[in-house]
Amino acid sequence: MRIVVLAGGIGGARFLRGLRRAVPDAEITVVGNTGDDIHLFGLKVCPDLDTVMYTLGGGIHEEQGWGREGETFAVKEELAAYGVGPEWFGLGDRDFATHIVRTQMLGAGYPLSAVTEALCARWKPGVRLLPMTDDRVETHVAIDVDGERRAVHFQEYWVKLRASVDALAVVPVGAEAAKPAPGVLDAIAGADVILFPPSNPVVSVGTILAVPGIREAVAAAPAPVVGLSPLVGGAPVRGMADKVLAAVGVESTAQAVARHYGADLIDGWLVDTVDADAVAAVEEAGIACRAVPLMMTDEDATAAMARAALALAEEVRA
Ligand code: GDP
Ligand code: CA
Repeated sequence: MRIVVLAGGIGGARFLRGLRRAVPDAEITVVGNTGDDIHLFGLKVCPDLDTVMYTLGGGIHEEQGWGREGETFAVKEELAAYGVGPEWFGLGDRDFATHIVRTQMLGAGYPLSAVTEALCARWKPGVRLLPMTDDRVETHVAIDVDGERRAVHFQEYWVKLRASVDALAVVPVGAEAAKPAPGVLDAIAGADVILFPPSNPVVSVGTILAVPGIREAVAAAPAPVVGLSPLVGGAPVRGMADKVLAAVGVESTAQAVARHYGADLIDGWLVDTVDADAVAAVEEAGIACRAVPLMMTDEDATAAMARAALALAEEVRA
């Protein structure tokens, strides 16, 4: 079975771990979000690709959900001693090595997709990890600063400001001119099942879909498309997705997100059991919907979610 997953960082990575356990023989292609990418200290940092790579490769800081386990911060402290920031972005010593290798390879002329493949040769994530594009896309968030509209990098909004002010707009800068990375469109067209994990619908899955050709390919694919809600009980399980959903005029509920994707994109949608009363509203929109436990408390629970998504895919295929 060939499965394609459009993934962000933590939500995508944790789901993928359960999916891999549920169907160990499946050929899984991950189309990863690169809108979160940022240049820091002259290095190219790809937080979502790395979260997927470290999580599936056994190198993730488990409690934190991002970054390396057993991390130290000597380089960051030395940079701070020179007065060189930003200090709000936590780059550890082990993590730095990944960004150095990536930046060196990009500088030598390799596209990000080839660099990602090279990094994965070490981590062996058990999936094929493709960046959504080899082109530069950077998500910016428009905010109000003392009555003036300003755009900040997504990481500044998310990590430095902790989404403490309203997002007025979310713009994947560069997306309109970006091309899907090699292999992305073929994987989508050749998939048996396409899954949207419980990733952020705006700044993770939404950014991937903003690369011209990807949304169209998903909508046109013969495979059933099934998504899992990142919102449970009217709030994100983790993080501040409600802030960026508000920016695109979508309520922070499981059914509003399903309707936001729409029946022309997704065929099936899973909501958590606490949101069972949302099933009817989602089905009214022409999307098959089931309520199952959606908390990724451990790998077994997550594998059960993956099996439920695949079962719903079979139902809508028939
Ligand atoms: P990020 O790039 O690290 O922010 O990660 P993603 O975009 O892949 O996923 C973020 C989303 O994962 C958040 O909106 C969370 O609500 C969602 N999430 C995290 N843990 C869980 C969980 O256990 N269950 C569900 N349903 N969603 C989760
Ligand atoms: Ca992210």
